[in-house]
Amino acid sequence: MGEEILRVEHISKRFGGVVALDDVSLSIRKGETCCLVGENGSGKSTLIKIISGVYIPDEGDIYVNSHHYKKLTPIESIHEGIQVIYQDFSLFPNLTVAENIAINEQVASGKQLVNWKEIQDIAREGLAKINISLPLDAIVETLSTADRQLIAIAKALLAKGRIIIMDEPTTALTQKEIKALFKVINELKSQGISILFVSHKLSEVTEIADRTVILRNGKKVMDQDAKGLEIRTMEYYMTGREIDTSAITFAEVTPVTPPLLRVENLNLSHGFFNVSFELRQNEVLGITGLLGSGRTELALSLFGMLPADSGNIYIKGNRVEIKSPTDAVRHGIGYVPDDRITQGLFLDQSISNNIVVRVIEGFKTKAGLLDNRTKSEQASQWIRQLEIKTPSGELPVKSLSGGNQQRVVLAKWLASNPKILILNGPTVGVDVGSKAEIHELIRTLAKQGIGILLISDDIPELIQTCHRILLMRAGKIVGEFHQGEITEQQLYSELIAGALAESSR
Ligand code: ADP
Ligand code: MG
Repeated sequence: MGEEILRVEHISKRFGGVVALDDVSLSIRKGETCCLVGENGSGKSTLIKIISGVYIPDEGDIYVNSHHYKKLTPIESIHEGIQVIYQDFSLFPNLTVAENIAINEQVASGKQLVNWKEIQDIAREGLAKINISLPLDAIVETLSTADRQLIAIAKALLAKGRIIIMDEPTTALTQKEIKALFKVINELKSQGISILFVSHKLSEVTEIADRTVILRNGKKVMDQDAKGLEIRTMEYYMTGREIDTSAITFAEVTPVTPPLLRVENLNLSHGFFNVSFELRQNEVLGITGLLGSGRTELALSLFGMLPADSGNIYIKGNRVEIKSPTDAVRHGIGYVPDDRITQGLFLDQSISNNIVVRVIEGFKTKAGLLDNRTKSEQASQWIRQLEIKTPSGELPVKSLSGGNQQRVVLAKWLASNPKILILNGPTVGVDVGSKAEIHELIRTLAKQGIGILLISDDIPELIQTCHRILLMRAGKIVGEFHQGEITEQQLYSELIAGALAESSR
C-alpha cells in the first residue's frame, strides 16, 4: 500500500442540537479501499461532505496530498483529486454516453467540443480506464443504473480523481452488477487510486475493504485492517450489541403428512418451470436466486397475483385453485411485499387502522362492522406482541422507522390468522438492529406453527432464519440446502456461480 494521501483529524460537526460527527479521525493511503460503515444516521454522509467541501467542519483539520486545510471548498477538493460518485450520478439524462463523459473535459478546457469524433475519443479514453465499453451514442436515460454508475466513475477518472468516494453505491444494483462494480474497484486500486466506500451492507464490506472504519452516533468506534474482520464483529460495533448466531434456536419441524403446502410441477411462462416443493408447519423455507431467477414470480404466483399456467397446489393435501389474491387469502395465505411503502401500507392512516384493515374486510363479509373498541384492542395486542415502537397506535404509520413499519405489515397479516406467510425481502432497507429483531420474529412465528416462505437474496438472513433454502436460477430450482449444512460463504458462491458463468463482463 502506498503513502498516505488523505487524513482528517479530530473532525466535529453539529447541526443545531444534533452532533453528526464527534472527534472523528481517518486516513487513506494510495491504492487503498477504505470502507466507512455505520447505521443510518451515524454520520457517514456528513463526513464525506466535509471531505468533498460541501460542509464546513466545526472543528478539526484536513490534510490532502500533504496540504493542510481547516476547511475545503468544493473546487479545492476537486483540485486535490477528490471525486464523489453521488447516488443520482449527476448525469445529463438526455445526452449520450459520450457527451456525458466528455462534458467535464469540455468545461475544463473552455473549448467547445462540437466534433463528435473528439467527444467519442475522450469518452473511450475514460471508459478504457475502467476496462469497460458502452455504446457511446446511447442516450443515458435508456441505460441501467449500473451503466450510469460506470459513466460517473469514468467521468471522475477523467477529472483526475485520485480518491473516489462512493456513497452507498450498491443500493440500486443487482448482485451481478455489484460483482461488476467490485471488479472496477479492484482495477482502480491497481492503478493506485484510493476508494472511500460507504456502506451498511456488511457482506459487501468484507469482500471489498482493505480497511474498515465504523461510525456509531457520530463517533468512530472501530478502525482496523479488514482482513479477518467478521460480520458479527462489525455488527457489534455498529449497533453496540452482539448478534449471536450460535444462540439461535429454530422451530422444530415434524414431518407430518400431508404437508402444509405442496407445489407440484408449477409453470409460468417467462417466469418459472416445473417447480415442485413442500412446506411444512413450523418451517421457514427460503427461496433465493438472483434478480430474474424467477423467485419473485413464484411468490406472486402462490399469492394469486400471477396465477400459474399449469401445475398443482395442495394445502394440507387438498388441491386448491389460486387464481387471485382473494383465493390465496381464503386458503390462509398471507403475502408481505418487498415494497411496503407502495404495496403494504396506508402511510397517512393510523398504525391501528393499518393493522386491522384485513380483519375489517373479513368482518364486512360476515358480521358487518367491527366496533372501535374491539379494533383498538386488537391493534394494541399486536403492537405489544410485535414490539412496535410507538407512543400510540393512533399515530400515522409514516411516523415509524422502516423496521417498525415492516412490523405493522406483518401484524396486519397475522391479525387475519394465516397458515402460510410469504415474505418477500422482509428486511430490505431496514437497519441492522431492527433486522435482527425481524429475524427473531420470523423464527417465533414459525414456532407458533405458521409455515413461512422467505424470498430473499440476503445471505446472512437466509442462514439465520431458514430450515431449508431452495436456490433458483433461470426459472428452475437448482439446489436445496439444509440448515446447519451450509455456510454463508458457500451459499454466496452457489448464488453467484450461475451469474459468473453467464456474465459477459
Ligand atoms: P448517514 O449518512 O450515516 O446515514 P448522516 O451523516 O446523513 O448519516 O447524518 C448524521 C446525523 O446528522 C443524523 O442525525 C442526521 O439527521 C444529521 N444531519 C445530517 N445532515 C444534516 C443537515 N443538513 N441538517 C440537520 N441535520 C443533519
Ligand atoms: Mg448517508
